[in-house]
Parts: sequence; structure tokens; C-alpha cells
Amino acid sequence: MKRSFQVIALLCVILCLTACLSEKEVKTVEQVKQDFFAMNTGISITAYGDNSETALTAAEESVKELEKLWSATDSSSEIYKINHSGGQAITVSDETSSLLSFALDMADKTEGALEPTIYPVLLAWGFTTEKNRVPDEDELQRLLQNVGYGKVTLSGNEVRIPAEMELDLGAVGKGYTGDILTGILKDAGITSALINLGGNIQAIGTKPDGSDWRLGLRDPFGEGNVGVIEVSDMAVVTSGNYERYFIGEDGREYGHIINPATGYPVNNGLASVTVIAKEGKMCDTLSTSLFVMGADEAVNYWQQNQDFDMILITDDKEIYLTEGIKDKFSLSGNFNLKVLTA
Ligand code: ADP
Ligand code: MG
Repeated sequence: MKRSFQVIALLCVILCLTACLSEKEVKTVEQVKQDFFAMNTGISITAYGDNSETALTAAEESVKELEKLWSATDSSSEIYKINHSGGQAITVSDETSSLLSFALDMADKTEGALEPTIYPVLLAWGFTTEKNRVPDEDELQRLLQNVGYGKVTLSGNEVRIPAEMELDLGAVGKGYTGDILTGILKDAGITSALINLGGNIQAIGTKPDGSDWRLGLRDPFGEGNVGVIEVSDMAVVTSGNYERYFIGEDGREYGHIINPATGYPVNNGLASVTVIAKEGKMCDTLSTSLFVMGADEAVNYWQQNQDFDMILITDDKEIYLTEGIKDKFSLSGNFNLKVLTA
């Protein structure tokens, strides 16, 4: 009797041990999440697996360093120094030189839809100070005389811009930061992570269970999503004037993405542009510049380049998506869907 009791007790211990072990096996993929505020936006990084904690600390430090280099308002930043150089050459870090070089290339490729020297116009509309106002036509025309990326000279790490000109890398910086963070996490051996820089998404690998990341595509006309995009190892960036805008005394909405041809906030029938590609810097610059171009020109640009996928949402509630993403997008809202082919 005593003996059989001992056997039962032993069996219980063994069962308990195996149960504990298998429970541990299921939970081997550890999740670490880091939320912080930088670059004027909320940032959230989730990483899975060994090393996540150290990698995320390194990632946050990197964002803070890049912000110090690129902030247009911080008087110790490299961009601020260039903007207040009075026409003199300024020596910048490798990161700034490489970001600026990419922005200038993309400005060229998009024929100035991306305009890294738009800052004085943005200031006139009050977007950085939050003292929003509608500038008059004369003021805009005067400011536009000093806008033009062609007058920026970058040679190695030396940057020179005319005295009246000012740079704004707000349309490129977060995407580029996403690429740098992806590098940091991958170097630390992370194979599954999601980086969210204020809506600029960068997915590393797949979810820990091997399935695609499921990202909601924001409804530009209200709360919630218009659908879900499934991706792995991709960046996804959306631009639109629905998040940062003000309503003028004339009752009209004015958003923070400016058409460099007119100096006015974009108002061309597009509600948002989402770009899906490998590199965050590509997605960030393209989402802004395709938004400036408008639907027809954006479709032309895609047909000529085709090294990315895009989802356009128009004010008429139509969604145009390129064929490469069509099987990865599921619509949930009341929109008209059209697939773009090459
Ligand atoms: P967000 O920063 O909200 O994610 P974007 O990437 O589209 O959105 O960048 C918008 C920012 O880019 C603006 O706040 C402004 O700083 C700058 N900007 C506005 N218009 C242009 C333009 N035509 N070309 C380049 N930068 C622009
Ligand atoms: Mg952008």
C-alpha cells in the first residue's frame, strides 16, 4: 500500500515536470516591447527571441542620436546648423550626408514632388509652431523663390545651401531611421520584430509563428481601418493630409504636405498613399511624393519604376492597388477596389 502510494507520488512529480517543461517550450519565444516618444511621434518596437532587450535599448539610443542630428528645430542639430549657415559650407556626419544624398536623388527622380527645401513654406503655414495661418499668394511666391533642391550642394560630408534656403527632411527621416533600426536588430540576431515609427512600419521577418504580420490600413475618413495588409520583411508607410491639418478661417482643411509647385497644401483628390517596399527610406519618400503627384501621375510613376507596391485611396472612396500587393490585401470597408497592372 505504502509502496503504491510512493509510485503514485513519483508519477505525479514526473507528470508535473513534463507539463512544466512543455509549457516552457511553447513560451520559448520571448517578446520585448519598447515604447517611447522621439522625432515628434510615438515610437513602438516589438522584438522576439534572445537578445531582444539589449537590441531594443540600442535601437532607442540610435533613434535619439539620429533625432539630435536631424531635428529642424533643435539648435544643436546638423540640419539646424545647415539652415543657419548663412551660405557657408557645413561638415556633417556620414548619416546626415547619406540621408541628404538619398533625399536629393529622390527629389530628382520625382521631378521635385519631393522637395527637401520646402521648410520656409511649411513655416509660413505654421505647421512646426502649431500657430497655423493661411499665407497670402504674394508671401508664398516670395518664399518659393528660395525653394529648389537643385541649389543644394553635397560633396562628401560637406553641405552648402544658399543663405535664404532651409532644409526639412521630415518626409524622409523616419523611413531612413527604420532602415537603420532594422540593421541594428538584424545584427543582434533578431529575426522577428515590428518597428512602428509613428505609423511608418518596418517588419523584420515574419511573426514568431511564421505567419505574415497583419497591418491595418487606416481609414483616412474616420476611425478604424479600411483593410488589412499582410507582409513579412517589408516596410509600409502611409502619407496623407488627414492626420496633421488645420481648418482655416475660410473653413477649408489645410494639411502638412505641400505641393512645391504652388506652395499650397496638397488638395488633388487623393486621401492617402501607402507604399510597400523593402526599404523604409524608399517608402517614406515615395508616399509623400506620390501624394503630391496625385493619382494619375502616381500611377505613371509606378508603371515606369515598379520597384514598389502602392495603395492609393481617393476622396471618392476608391482604392487603387498595384498587382503585387493584391493577394496580400483584404478590404473591410465600403470602398471600390481597382487593381493596377503594369
Ligand atoms: P509624416 O511625417 O506625417 O509621416 P510624411 O512622411 O508624408 O508624413 O512627411 C510630411 C512632412 O514632410 C511634413 O510635415 C513636412 O515636414 C515635409 N514636407 C511637406 N511637404 C513636402 C514635400 N513636398 N517634399 C518634402 N517634404 C515635405
Ligand atoms: Mg514620407
